[in-house]
Amino acid sequence: MSDCPFCKIVRGEIPATIVARTDDALAFSDLNPQAPTHVLVIPTRHAENLGDFVRIATPHEVGAFFGLAATIGRQAGGDGPEARGYRIVANEGRDGGQTVAHLHVHVLAGRRLGWPPG
Ligand code: AMP
Ligand code: ZN
Repeated sequence: MSDCPFCKIVRGEIPATIVARTDDALAFSDLNPQAPTHVLVIPTRHAENLGDFVRIATPHEVGAFFGLAATIGRQAGGDGPEARGYRIVANEGRDGGQTVAHLHVHVLAGRRLGWPPG
C-alpha cells in the first residue's frame, strides 16, 4: 500500500533499524521501545490485521511471519530450560490499541513483563 508506513519500510522508503529479513517477513526495531528488546515483525505483504492476513496469505507466508517472530524471540529471550523468555503481542483494532494498520507483532524481551496488560 502506497501510504502505509510499514510498507514504506519494506520498500526502503523510510529508515528503520532492520533486524532480520526474509522474502516474506521483516523484523525491525520499534521506534519507541517498551523493553530492552522491542522488535516489530511484519509480513512484507500488506494486510491490516491477523484475520485479513490469514485470509490472503499462503501457508508459506504465514509460516514465514510466525517463524521469524519465534526466531527473534529466541534470540532475545534465550532458548531451553534456563531461557528468560519473551512476549509476543499483536494489538488489534481500537480496543486492542492498534495504531498502525499493517499487521505486526511486538517481540518484547529483556525485563520481567507485567500481567495482566494495561
Ligand atoms: P501498535 O500500537 O500495536 O499498532 O504498534 C505500532 C508500533 O509501531 C508502536 O510501538 C510504534 O512505536 C511503532 N512504530 C510506528 N512507526 C514506526 C517506524 N517508522 N519505525 C519503527 N517503529 C514504528
Ligand atoms: Zn502496509
